[in-house]
Amino acid sequence: MPSTFNIALLPGDGIGPDVTAEAVKVLRAVEPLLSDVRFEMTEHAVGVAEYLENGNPLPEKAIEACRQSDAVLLGAMGLPSVRWPDGKEMTPQIDLREIFSLYNGVRPIYLYHSEDTSLKGYGPGEIDFVIVRESTEGLFSARLSQSDPEKGEVCDVMRITRLGTERVCRAAFELARTRRKKCALVDKANVLPSMVFMRKVFDEVAKEFPDVETDHIYVDAAALFLVQRPDRFDVIVTENMFGDILSDLAAGLVGGMGMAPSGDIGDDCGIFQPSHGSAPDIAGKGIANPIATILSVALLLDWLDHEETRRGAVMIRQAVAKVLSVPSNRTADLGGIVSTSQMGDLIAAAISS
Ligand code: NAD
Repeated sequence: MPSTFNIALLPGDGIGPDVTAEAVKVLRAVEPLLSDVRFEMTEHAVGVAEYLENGNPLPEKAIEACRQSDAVLLGAMGLPSVRWPDGKEMTPQIDLREIFSLYNGVRPIYLYHSEDTSLKGYGPGEIDFVIVRESTEGLFSARLSQSDPEKGEVCDVMRITRLGTERVCRAAFELARTRRKKCALVDKANVLPSMVFMRKVFDEVAKEFPDVETDHIYVDAAALFLVQRPDRFDVIVTENMFGDILSDLAAGLVGGMGMAPSGDIGDDCGIFQPSHGSAPDIAGKGIANPIATILSVALLLDWLDHEETRRGAVMIRQAVAKVLSVPSNRTADLGGIVSTSQMGDLIAAAISS
């Protein structure tokens, strides 16, 4: 009997459907090369298009489909032009993190080719680190709070809990153990009491991992070091908002948002998606880079934790490396003329060959 994995597909808004289609193409190229593994994929409507059609960007049916699936592949959600009456954007992707307690936001940053970084002197694999972004609390926990701007003051509270910090730090240390065994906490413990607490809990958890070297870096210094010496980093664990900002900066070191995959992982649910958003500035043009979403499929396959799916993840990363080793194989964001679907075709063909 083959192992069948049910994957819920949430293409979403803007470039989401385009990049998701290419990721599915690549997964379908991997599937026949795996022994006794099948993928059942079912698509669900979410995002602002669904809101405009039916009044809810995240219908219960889609949430239930995520709950029933083995893993979720998401494109991108939200558009700046569609907002709730209070002025905030719709962010169903963040709702999903909270609904399923997806505290472990894994964002690998890997340089495939020296052509794709604006930094001097870095070759393939010489920028290689992972940002683990706490994804259920921190400053984002203020996002649903009520405020009255008429009072001349709005406060957003940064919420850090022991439970939230312990579980994300453990996930980061476990990950470091599979890599170069270095884990740095990025915080603001020189100023904020919540960050002093986060550092204390990080240090407590660190004692469970004596084989992992630890470091503490203030977030402002981390922004500097990421640009000056990205090779000093292995695993970074940080608060939600800091992780949000630093992961875009880090994506910029390896070619931009189109090169930055991510996984939002909880104890029993994993949602995999590019780190980027719906990119309305390039939506509908067929030029979005699908590699971030394709590499998110590799993360998904690793997370399914089956010998064969892990082999599939390796195939995808090797195919991306092979395709990018040819300088003309570049989408517009990387200075080339390859379209979204052509990039998917190239990677699928590299897998099949
Ligand atoms: P964005 O990530 O969509 O775009 C930032 C820049 O990167 C843009 O210039 C865009 O063209 C470029 N870019 C992004 N992905 C690319 C790709 N695959 N290929 C080539 N270029 C790419 O961020 P934004 O403009 O700040 O946000 C746009 C919308 O997406 C907003 O509504 C925002 O709320 C939403 N958003 C959603 C998610 C998510 O679904 N996880 C994440 C971030 C932002």
